[in-house]
Amino acid sequence: MRAATYGFWTQNSCLKPETSHYSSAKFHSAHQQVRMQTIRQKIIDLLSLQEMDARQLSKQIGIREKEAVEHLCHISRSLAVKGKKLTIHPAECLLCGYVFENRQRFTRPGRCPRCKKSHLQSPGFYIINLV
Ligand SMILES: [Zn+2]
Repeated sequence: MRAATYGFWTQNSCLKPETSHYSSAKFHSAHQQVRMQTIRQKIIDLLSLQEMDARQLSKQIGIREKEAVEHLCHISRSLAVKGKKLTIHPAECLLCGYVFENRQRFTRPGRCPRCKKSHLQSPGFYIINLV
């Protein structure tokens, strides 16, 4: 299965500038910490059962897509110690079939580098057990 080779997200996938504001005071209260933990556990549960993209996750849980992506970043780093791995199914161009194999991100690409169109399938995520 092709997607299985895109598993390790511990290095550079959380460096996107558009999510940096989440690390500030916004989530500092105990209430917010609990809420975040709950959301992350829901995401982990969902992705352990099926592959979903960030938009599907955000709808299912009731958060914004951007927020879902931020949680995915944290989850990818925390899962390793639990013997699990967040795996990505790379985004694909629906028109020419281009696969975004080297894209180290959780967000959707803007457009296809080959045909320059933006009919793209979002990257999908799922969680596998390593043990
Ligand atoms: Zn294309």
